[in-house]
Amino acid sequence: MGFEIHYSCRIEDHICCIEDCSNTLGGPTVTNMADRVIDQIRKEPGLPDGMPIIYRDSDGIWDELLVKNGRFWDFAPIQVRNIEEAKRKIRLKYSLQDIAETQKDNAEEYCSWQYDEDGFYATGCGRGFTLNEGDLQENEFQFCPYCGKKIKD
Ligand SMILES: [Zn+2]
Repeated sequence: MGFEIHYSCRIEDHICCIEDCSNTLGGPTVTNMADRVIDQIRKEPGLPDGMPIIYRDSDGIWDELLVKNGRFWDFAPIQVRNIEEAKRKIRLKYSLQDIAETQKDNAEEYCSWQYDEDGFYATGCGRGFTLNEGDLQENEFQFCPYCGKKIKD
């Protein structure tokens, strides 16, 4: 033994919470052995891919462990002593990221065309376009001829 890493791991509010127990039980800290700890907890059932992982280090401070391609990747600071505060910060971080991702998807999926009164469209990709007659629907016009994305008007 001797090399065993002592920590507890539980899932609370869809966040994996690890607590370093090296102070009471000895052995290396989670901070020093983050890659090994991640390998161990990833083998446990019930830890979905992409679930945020936070840990309390041997000084009692909560930070985040980032995982990339199934392996420990880096630490991200949370720097609080209260677990509820740590979870709140993580939830905020990931809900903001979700929103940013959604906006990015929407922005990239469509070319939004602005119609002006003269039958002239300004395309989302910075070009101009006119239809001889009717609007986009009447012309069964669905994709931007310049960038190839679906038109949003
Ligand atoms: Zn376009």
